[in-house]
Amino acid sequence: MTRSRPPSTIVLGAGFAGLAAALRLARAGASVTVLDRLERPGGKAALGWTDFSSGPSVVTMPDIFRGLYQRLEWAQPLLTPARPTTTYHYAGKLSGRTFAPEALNVAGSLDSTLAQLSRSEASQYRRLLDVSRQMYQDAAPTFLFGPPPSRVQLARYALTKGRRAAPLKSLAQLVQSGPLLTPFWLRFATYLGANPYKAPAVLHNIAWVELGLGVWHLGEGPSGGLGALAARLGEEAEQLGVRFEYGVTVKHLLRSGRQIIGAHTDQGAYSAEQWVSAADHATTTRWLGLPPEKAPRGISGFALQLRLERDVGRAHHLFFPAEYRQEWRDIALGKLPSDPALYLHLDGQRAFLLINAPPNPNIVADPYTYGAALLDNLQARYAEKYGAALPVSSWLPLDPALYALTGMGGAIYGAAPHGLLGSLRPGWTHTAARNLVQVGGTVHPGGGVPLSLLSGWNGAGQVLGLPYDDLGGQVSGA
Ligand SMILES: Cc1cc2nc3c(=O)[nH]c(=O)nc-3n(C[C@H](O)[C@H](O)[C@H](O)COP(=O)(O)OP(=O)(O)OC[C@H]3O[C@@H](n4cnc5c(N)ncnc54)[C@H](O)[C@@H]3O)c2cc1C
Repeated sequence: MTRSRPPSTIVLGAGFAGLAAALRLARAGASVTVLDRLERPGGKAALGWTDFSSGPSVVTMPDIFRGLYQRLEWAQPLLTPARPTTTYHYAGKLSGRTFAPEALNVAGSLDSTLAQLSRSEASQYRRLLDVSRQMYQDAAPTFLFGPPPSRVQLARYALTKGRRAAPLKSLAQLVQSGPLLTPFWLRFATYLGANPYKAPAVLHNIAWVELGLGVWHLGEGPSGGLGALAARLGEEAEQLGVRFEYGVTVKHLLRSGRQIIGAHTDQGAYSAEQWVSAADHATTTRWLGLPPEKAPRGISGFALQLRLERDVGRAHHLFFPAEYRQEWRDIALGKLPSDPALYLHLDGQRAFLLINAPPNPNIVADPYTYGAALLDNLQARYAEKYGAALPVSSWLPLDPALYALTGMGGAIYGAAPHGLLGSLRPGWTHTAARNLVQVGGTVHPGGGVPLSLLSGWNGAGQVLGLPYDDLGGQVSGA
């Protein structure tokens, strides 16, 4: 049943989840205020230079974007598939080798991907891609495209599909497939903030999202990309009457029994009938004065925004170190990796370099010195492959301390999804607060922009008493 007058709502956090929630609520006629400590919309995409995304660069699950645009009555988004999805460059014993897979649903066949592999690698690729597809299809209805699962739904999944999720195996055991492919498969677990060597086998389903469904570019030129999408969502919300208050840091939520009656911030107090927290789940827990979560935090990142002298086109690259495992030994010890995997996103005259880092805001004493060393490392690897360094004109470091403004400890995806139960994301309620819905990339259905949008949209749906809307994601998951 829908309410006649939607409750006045305060949305805490203007990342993708908060924006989606605010828009849906405003469209239903609610009076909505959004509070955020940053100065613009976008959350993890809104740090650093304003014409860049400071985080998400790759678009996955394109049908969720199509679904959202359709619900918002926008013209359909321009989504161009990245072909290949990413080019992987190897070092050490595999120095000189590259692997540039195409997504199955984009290319229509595996021919071009398998042609780059030896016969035994090709058969491992086929096998492990099949496993990831099966795991994704098994998990999607319960864990992605529905509300947070009840115990009954979890039990049903465990009984009917659980065995195929290889519950007794680690991801590292599942994807053993030789020196070229093992790190390749392992890396997908970082998309949910895991140390791949501590992740459960079921996280292998993430590989299907990229290698089955594809990686996409959103829009074109300077007005393309996910940063621009965040800005557009913010503008649209404002036009619908949503009040944005930036530069407001929430300190805690005041409760009366199990109702939130106000928010205490560094700019004074706010009150509303309904609350949506689109901040990190652990941050909300702290705001509510509840005991801190015990689970370790997932990984953070250290990144560089790079301006280029000329347009180099659009592509994604991953430069593996000589020994991938060592990177994760370093991170497990709380250190910055001495020889990290370098993720490079090229987008015309903009580029973004990212490495994994431990979730410790104080890890980098001097981001510019560390950033310069990282850039040297990238330029050497890039020039080795392409004959010349990238034409970088200026750059800006983004360290875990900056990411910690948006997520506790700088962890990008909240709690580390380690072990079988660790991979279950928290739900949308806090029992201590009945008029609070929790959304965002640290809760069900998980991190990444499409899933954050999905939870924000449906968190608002919950406030409005509307049925779950999968934004079209379920249809296309095959
Ligand atoms: C470097 C990097 C690369 C990534 N790459 C990709 C990618 O290629 N593709 C992809 O889909 N995803 C990617 N992600 C993940 C993706 O960016 C996130 O999962 C998603 O943006 C999370 O959105 P959100 O709205 O849930 O949370 P957030 O963006 O974290 O929003 C939370 C908001 O709450 C606000 N907030 C927090 N605390 C307070 C407080 N005390 N007071 C007031 N406001 C507060 C924050 O300022 C922030 O705006 C990447 C992330 C990073 C950091």
